[in-house]
Amino acid sequence: MVVAPAIRLSALTKTFGSVTAVDGVSLDIAPGEFFSMLGPSGSGKTTVLRLIAGFEKPTSGTVSLFGQDVTTAAPFDRDVNTVFQDYALFPHMTVLQNVAYGLRIRGIKKAERLERARAALETVRLGGFGDRKPSQLSGGQRQRVALARATIVEPKALLLDEPLGALDLKLREQMQVELKEIQRDLGITFIFVTHDQEEALTLSDRVAVFSDGRIVQLGTPQEIYEKPRSAFVADFVGTSNVFEGDLAVKVIGKKGAFSIRPERMSIETSTRTSANSALGSVVDAIYIGGASRIVVDLDAGARINVIDDEKTPEAAAALRGKRVTVSWKATDVVVLSA
Ligand code: ADP
Ligand code: MG
Repeated sequence: MVVAPAIRLSALTKTFGSVTAVDGVSLDIAPGEFFSMLGPSGSGKTTVLRLIAGFEKPTSGTVSLFGQDVTTAAPFDRDVNTVFQDYALFPHMTVLQNVAYGLRIRGIKKAERLERARAALETVRLGGFGDRKPSQLSGGQRQRVALARATIVEPKALLLDEPLGALDLKLREQMQVELKEIQRDLGITFIFVTHDQEEALTLSDRVAVFSDGRIVQLGTPQEIYEKPRSAFVADFVGTSNVFEGDLAVKVIGKKGAFSIRPERMSIETSTRTSANSALGSVVDAIYIGGASRIVVDLDAGARINVIDDEKTPEAAAALRGKRVTVSWKATDVVVLSA
């Protein structure tokens, strides 16, 4: 049996007046996949989610869920649910009532819905918090209530629009791990929208990188990170050093466009040159916890970043103002197509 994709978008386009928010997006997402849409603000990610949820109608193209064309179906006729960045919890209801809400509007009897709400709270590790009001919870806990509330109606896919965006870094990292565990426990498809590349790479089975309403690259986190196809992806997904035009000829020794990840470069105080190296002067060295980011102005005319996790912070700082040789392996040079 061929399993239908959980979500299939075909040539999906959405315009608002003169703005093309989504521009011909085609995509298959497999059942059970943790799929991320990653891109800068305004690249069309939220609009794609709203088209999948049915809050917007496409200008052209189609949306199918589990083999069924739902392009014109109402939101409540689609087997998906959405978690928004602001959680949208009801402040006057308890946590348990908030979670049970989706069952209430589906006419499930009280005893059953409270029992299922308690179980859902256990899933997000909030058993025992049911009697509190949302205002008595931390941001991370509120986020988990929103997750429980969205999953209790057993959607086949969950759409999450920057759900961790309001949390501070530490909590966000903790919630990333929990989100992944919850997704594994539930076994449902997650479509996760974020502008945070690290978050997308950490969580996802596959990532679609968006720019100007289009998917510019689609692949596993490793493919996206190690083999960015364009200067845009190389730069957006983890800072990269990009060499194009004359600079490519001078530094890489070839015509074309290339990138090298900062952590793939090494640095030493010498003025020797060989293949796969370039001379420059250190502008700054910044300790970033566990490694140093060393900024180098290459004589070829480019400012690059090198991430060094071998030198002590003091040794890295002592490089400021020094003449150095930056080197890399030929296999770490990624060829960009644009
Ligand atoms: P993202 O979520 O990636 O930040 P959006 O999907 O929200 O991007 O927006 C994509 C583009 O569409 C932006 O230029 C945005 O201003 C525009 N847009 C989104 N929704 C509307 C709307 N309801 N009316 C007009 N323009 C919109
Ligand atoms: Mg958005």
